[in-house]
Amino acid sequence: MEGRFSSTGSKAGRVAMYALALALASCTASADTAEQPDFAIRDIAVVLRSSEPFTRASDFPARVESTLDAALEYWGGGWDHLAGRSITFEGNQTVTCGTHAGAFGCFDGNIRLSTRDPAFPFSCVEQTVLVHEVGHAVIGDVAHEDPRWMDFGAVMARLDGRRGYTASGEGDCQLFVSVWQHPPDLR
Ligand SMILES: [Zn+2]
Repeated sequence: MEGRFSSTGSKAGRVAMYALALALASCTASADTAEQPDFAIRDIAVVLRSSEPFTRASDFPARVESTLDAALEYWGGGWDHLAGRSITFEGNQTVTCGTHAGAFGCFDGNIRLSTRDPAFPFSCVEQTVLVHEVGHAVIGDVAHEDPRWMDFGAVMARLDGRRGYTASGEGDCQLFVSVWQHPPDLR
């Protein structure tokens, strides 16, 4: 699963794709605008384009916030690194990120991420690549050269053992550090 988590595309490409995504989204919007957030966490707009059970659970906003808090602590960032940005949870298995069509998540100024693993739907927000994408928001480092991209032990310790949600009810929220990890990109 390595190497598909985020874009290394050009800034211009990312901006262009973001504009395209907005245009496509506006075609499928119903009454409200495409980027109308479903809720906000502090100054962060959260958009739901997924029907996975965990995104519909009553504790979802609090779980997103505490996951962001753990990720920001890990990366040495603060809420100001995310202020004014949006986080979009997509139902598709992958998201397009710049020229990269098979990403699980993307940071291009805003964060978009899948709510599915290739093998199974995630059962909680902590399982997604959100922790990884927050890293890009805080330190940039599109080439994944910082050693923290291969660690995440402190985040695991803080977020492990929470409740998950499945189509048939409550389940576990087993975390896999490999989902967040990324080796340094080859140059
Ligand atoms: Zn990345």
